[in-house]
Order: sequence, then C-alpha cells, then structure tokens
Amino acid sequence: MTAKKRYERPAIKRLEAQMPNKFGLRTAYVPMTHVDGVAVKDLLKEHGSPLFVISERTIREKYQEAKQAFTNRYPRVQFAWSYKTNYLNAVCNIFHQEGSWAEVVSGFEYDKALANGIDPRLIIFNGPDKHEEDLRIAILNDSLIHIDHLEELYSIIRLADELSKRPRVAIRVNMDTGVFPIWDRFGFNYENGQAWDALNKIMRSGKLELTGLHCHIGTFMLSPSAYGVAALKLADLALGLQQRYNHEIKYIDMGGGFPSGNTLKGAFLPGTDTNPGFDALAEAITTPLVNSNFPANKMPLLILETGRALVDEAGYLLGTVISNKRSSTGKRITIIDVGVNLLFTSFWYDHKISPAQSFSNYTEETMLYGPLCMNIDVVRENAVLPLLNKGDQFVIHHVGAYDMTQWMQFITLRPRVLLIDMEGRAHIIRQRETLESISQYESVPEHLKKIAP
Ligand SMILES: *Cc1c(COP(=O)(O)O)cnc(C)c1O
Repeated sequence: MTAKKRYERPAIKRLEAQMPNKFGLRTAYVPMTHVDGVAVKDLLKEHGSPLFVISERTIREKYQEAKQAFTNRYPRVQFAWSYKTNYLNAVCNIFHQEGSWAEVVSGFEYDKALANGIDPRLIIFNGPDKHEEDLRIAILNDSLIHIDHLEELYSIIRLADELSKRPRVAIRVNMDTGVFPIWDRFGFNYENGQAWDALNKIMRSGKLELTGLHCHIGTFMLSPSAYGVAALKLADLALGLQQRYNHEIKYIDMGGGFPSGNTLKGAFLPGTDTNPGFDALAEAITTPLVNSNFPANKMPLLILETGRALVDEAGYLLGTVISNKRSSTGKRITIIDVGVNLLFTSFWYDHKISPAQSFSNYTEETMLYGPLCMNIDVVRENAVLPLLNKGDQFVIHHVGAYDMTQWMQFITLRPRVLLIDMEGRAHIIRQRETLESISQYESVPEHLKKIAP
C-alpha cells in the first residue's frame, strides 16, 4: 500500500516579493541530510531531538584559515580562545591543541581554563568583574591581567605589595574607531586621555610589569577599517611608552569581534556576502602595525581573541517539526522543538535553516515558532521555506558561537552536544540534562517536604 499523500490546504496569498539583491531572489534550497558525513536522521534517532552538533573539522579549518591570513602579513601572531564564546571543554581543547592561549572574563572561566590544563601564564584575564580572590590567584600564577578600571589597578598595586610579586598587566583601551556605538564602558578611553593616565599610573607605581595594550572594539564588526584605526591608536600608545619611559611592550592585543557567516536581522544581503573575511581584516590590522616606527626586530606580538568567527560555522542545531498551523491572518506557522531557550542568538540573527530531507518545490513565507509557552519564542519571523511537515527534520546553521554559553534552562532540559571528530566519529561532549541534574541545586525546607496535611 502506498502511503497517503499529505494534503496542504491551498492558500491564496498576496505576493510579498522581497527586494532582490544583485543575484536576484534567493529561493534555492538544498536539503542538508548529513553533518560531516553523518546522517542527520541517525544522529537524531540515537541522541534525541533537538541536538547540538559541532564539527571538529570546521573548527580546525577556520582556525588555520584565520591564522594563515595573519601570519602571511605579520611576523608574530598568537590567538587566544575566547572562552565565553563557547566554553565546552572539548571545544576549548581543540583550540588549545591548535596553539591558542585562553582568554577569560571571569573567575569561573579562569578556573575552567586551568582545569583544561593550559599553562596559567598563557591565560589572558579580561573583564570588569575580577574578584579580589581571582586577582590574587592570577597574580600568583603569573597570568596576563588586562585592567579594566582604576579601582582594579589600585587593587592590583596593593596585591603586588602584599604578595611580593610583579604582576604582568595590560590595559584595555576603548576608542573612537569611526563605528557607532563606541564600546566605551570597558577599559580606558584613548581620546580623552584616560588611557595615558592609566599607563602613567602603572609606570610610575614601579610595581607592575606593563606587558601589553589591549582593545576589543565591538562584536560582529563588519568594517575592517575600524580595526585599522584601533591598531594605529594602540601602536601610538606603544610608541609613546617607548619615548617617555623607554619601555617596550611585549604585545598588542586586538581583541575579537570578527563577524561569522550569520545574517543579522534586517540585513539586506546574506551574512556570507557581507563578511569581509579574514584576509581583509588581517590586512586592516597589520598594515598600521608594519608601517609604524617599531624597530624591525622589536615588533610586538600581535594577539587576537577571535571567538565567534572561528566557531560559529562549526555548530549546528538539529531538530524536528512538531506541527503546522495557520495564524489568524492565514500565515503559515511551523512549530519546531527548538526554541529561543537554545537559540539565544535568534534575537540578533535570521539563522539559515535547511530541511534535512527532500521536499517539493513549493515555498511559503513561514513563521517558525519554538515549543516554549511564551510569545517571544520566535525562531524566525519570516522565513521563506519549503513546506515542512510534522516529524520532518531540519538543521539550523551557524550556532557554534554564544548559543551553548547563553542558552537557558527554561521549561525543558538542555539537549546533548555532540562533536564529530576528524574521522567522522560522534562523541558526546555534553550530556542531556536530567531532572536530577537540575534539581541538585535545590533544597526544600523541612516544613515544605510533605505536601499532604
Ligand atoms: C567576547 C570577547 C571576545 C570574543 O569576541 P567575538 O566577538 O566572539 O570574537 C574577545 N575579547 C574580549 C575581551 C571579549 O569580551
């Protein structure tokens, strides 16, 4: 017996043609049936739906691509993995194996990096909220501390005395790079003299080892020229230190912020078209440095804390369609088992979504809703998609950055995360949460333990 064909109610709809880009309208879809050679349907069957999958191959390839772009143009380059972008230990260790240092922004991340076995002298400690205990440990471990504000500077000077150590520090500098908004809440401002004030205070204290200069000018920065301006301003500070104190800094740290292939909400072109690419970014950053007055044998090490651009493409979120319905105005609604609890970045991006099986040619503007009982649970407000039916599977692209650190445990449990290794083998790198694992943080007072009178 042949299976009964599915019926789709015909809907008369006004054509709401989107603006074509220079390539015309993009309605071409191809099913994505495999991730790195492993069948989506097998993965979902074995590990449940939804499921995060990370490609080790993509991470290593992206890393090599970025590294090559910089080492082609600058003699000494070092990457430091931004833990908050994705701090699953397996992911961090891929970057560490490739040669990345660790870049952390809290005591928790610092401890995670230590537990992963990285040499503490290769940990860069950023962020505005380093607790005194964290600072003490970082100083004793000789880690690189990037100072965010004056209170922190004074704490470090006091701890240097107390611990009889000479902490290795840099300052974070914020500046006008021609891109709005200026991220001036972190670090010391270049234009108004705060940065020089902090540098003078460090140099004249005589108690700290000023090792570098740091900036992190924004995130998802589409403009390479902004990095060029930032590099020029940091080089200017470095040369100023040379002149005033005859002090050589060891490194210039340009932070992170490179965009991934994701498409920002409201963007005219897909993110893969607007991404400037590592070569253009490397050119913008290294040009002012190689043209500056550093002696050729004393070029500072160039550190990059690239997060998103190295890991976003490596992450996939696999899921299943729960149901279809029509809105009050007749618009197609597809409900999927992935909500904003797992896809925090859907507040900023229009994620690319591929059906995981073949489909008909017909497409329709669809609202993709998650399974949460709340109105904001919208994965895509308006996706032109082939028709998906209950039980159909799909793959959401570019979810490697920030989703697995900003996800929420809300209403449901967080799913498994798999890593597909270089040989196409799947490894569980984070277990699905359970009622027990979540409940272990709770305790019920004695008088509330019994609910029957
Ligand atoms: C978040 C962060 C990064 C990484 O940023 P991406 O946009 O993911 O590249 C690097 N450095 C600092 C200080 C950060 O806070």
